[in-house]
Amino acid sequence: MNECEVCGSKNLTSFEAMERMYGLNDIFTYKECENCKGLFLSEIPENLSKYYPEEYYSFEPYKASSSLVEFIKKVRFEFWKRGINFKPPNYFTWLSNLKVEQTSKIADIGCGNGQLLAELSYCGFKNLDGYDPFLTNTGVTKGFTLIKKDFFEITEKYDLVMFHHSFEHIPNPEKIFNNLSTILNPGGEVLIRVPVTDGKVWQENREFWFQLDAPRHLFIPNTESIICLADKYSFEVIKIEFDSLESQFWGTELYRRGKPFVGTDIAKEFSKKEMDIFKTKASQFNKLKIGDQACFYLRKN
Ligand SMILES: [Zn+2]
Repeated sequence: MNECEVCGSKNLTSFEAMERMYGLNDIFTYKECENCKGLFLSEIPENLSKYYPEEYYSFEPYKASSSLVEFIKKVRFEFWKRGINFKPPNYFTWLSNLKVEQTSKIADIGCGNGQLLAELSYCGFKNLDGYDPFLTNTGVTKGFTLIKKDFFEITEKYDLVMFHHSFEHIPNPEKIFNNLSTILNPGGEVLIRVPVTDGKVWQENREFWFQLDAPRHLFIPNTESIICLADKYSFEVIKIEFDSLESQFWGTELYRRGKPFVGTDIAKEFSKKEMDIFKTKASQFNKLKIGDQACFYLRKN
């Protein structure tokens, strides 16, 4: 890889990163684009599946709500649409920034057990498809469909395509955008929730950054990388929201201590007070746009 897959810049610098989540300590080379500040795994290992042990993809079945709770969720959504809020869940915020309606065709890429699709179906959304190449249970469930497919195999058309922390696991961001322009209906929307290199934690800790997650994260954008891709494929950037969590601090500190994420008792490493401080700091970082993950809302022109 000699040029940035996003902006085409040849000004790339290399650095090494270790597998830290499982403590395997294998070393990988990443390239950082000095122009758009995106990070690329230099060479995708042939045995990438080694880094996705079975438990990574052991999807628990989604938690179905009882018909009473389902009814309450539906009512809560109908009230929210009219401006009346009862503890709105995160996905209400996402929906509020999009034009989608209950009849819109929606795809969730890397949907796991389909929990989010189930929640949307309780709110009255009717055309919901979840894609994940690692699914074991597929087919039509009450209210949504789970499909075992790679993102690049999708040919159906959608009004909204969502990536909730799956974008960074798919190779070649430019190819992703190219495919998005094919599978979106005119005026279709994209929601991408992804780690970003705008984060102060990345800038200060580099290879110890919790969300670098070598070698599973194949590409980590900067907000500049997404803006560049949107521009290239005629997407309008409607909104960028930082939604980083306290894990950026404790996870990174854990890796600095040389401890893996899997197998370490986090509650023994950090006190309740420390965790509260991390939480407050995360929301401050989001306001300052220096959190380590963001939510991008895009619309196809
Ligand atoms: Zn670049």
